[in-house]
Amino acid sequence: MNEPIQAPVPRSGVMQIQAYVPGKSSAAGVARVVKLSSNETPLGPSRAAIEAFKSAADSLEAYPDGAASALRAAIADRYGLDPARIVCGAGSDELLSLLTHAYIGPGDEGLYSEYGFLMYRIAILAAGGTPVVAPEKNRVADVDALLARVSSRTRIVYLANPNNPTGTYLPHEEVKRLAASLPPHVLLVLDAAYAEYVKRNDYSAGLELVSTSTNVVMTRTFSKIHGLAALRIGWLYAPAAIADAVNRIRGPFNVSAPAIAAGAAAIRDLAHVEASVAHNEVWLPWLTRELTTLGLNVTPSVGNFVLIDFPTSAGKTAAEADTFLSRRGLVLRAVGAYGLPHSLRMTIGTEDANRAVVEALREFMGA
Ligand SMILES: *Cc1c(COP(=O)(O)O)cnc(C)c1O
Repeated sequence: MNEPIQAPVPRSGVMQIQAYVPGKSSAAGVARVVKLSSNETPLGPSRAAIEAFKSAADSLEAYPDGAASALRAAIADRYGLDPARIVCGAGSDELLSLLTHAYIGPGDEGLYSEYGFLMYRIAILAAGGTPVVAPEKNRVADVDALLARVSSRTRIVYLANPNNPTGTYLPHEEVKRLAASLPPHVLLVLDAAYAEYVKRNDYSAGLELVSTSTNVVMTRTFSKIHGLAALRIGWLYAPAAIADAVNRIRGPFNVSAPAIAAGAAAIRDLAHVEASVAHNEVWLPWLTRELTTLGLNVTPSVGNFVLIDFPTSAGKTAAEADTFLSRRGLVLRAVGAYGLPHSLRMTIGTEDANRAVVEALREFMGA
């Protein structure tokens, strides 16, 4: 007798997920490439972080401290925070996913803006929830549009500030207005992955807002300015009850011992962070100016990357630019998955890399 084959079926929502496609790290036929596709720092990590990582290699047989106490203490010290309200994770991606699983289930909605970071949608669908998207204005999140889409089923509003891939940000007054207008049962997640790069008087990563609210969380990462993307380290600052919920569902050893050691050393190395900011302060305006001069539209960015719009005319499209640059070993990020088929995102690289991209695009544009 032939039983019908009953293959395991994933939970509802899982098959709706378009798996995240990371930035490319190679180009066909090119031996060595310059990777400008994942917003990694061209300066690399702090020497102190590398040394701490190497020292940790001497005791790999031992489980890490499940509370990541040394890392939480270093973060608390750096920003003057209560370590009890810090939770560390394997990248902030893990923390975004844990927050989502803790607060969203089938029938619940997660809300984010039009060009918001793609991981929000993936996390919401993975938790069985429904993604809801609010339009942006000129590629900037729109608080009124977000508020208009809050329903009785909304559980989380996600805001990357500044946002990837646009590089735009919301001033603190707008973030405060959003927080103040949300019903108290709705969690506001402020994803401040690029906060260290932002030098604007009207910007805040959101620490004070977390301290004075019961429904606001801020996430941060060691992958960007600290140059430790390979180690997967992120952290969040939350009201005690929310930190407690995340701690209940996270893996008991979700941050490895080398990551704890390197992260703690990295956050103490203020000089290294300052050097990265200084590099960005020079090359972000330079790239914006040079690319604009070539006739390309650059979305005003406060991060360590720029979103470049290409013409739609034959021979000059974003896809053709991507191919043209890739052949020269310059790997940028296609952002069609964000609904931006005419754009490429470029991470600010070394001086040589930045100049090479501008020269190549000058040739490409025939400018
Ligand atoms: C890079 C990035 C992250 C960080 O990811 P990790 O998992 O910490 O490496 C989070 N949010 C945004 C918007 C990002 O661009």
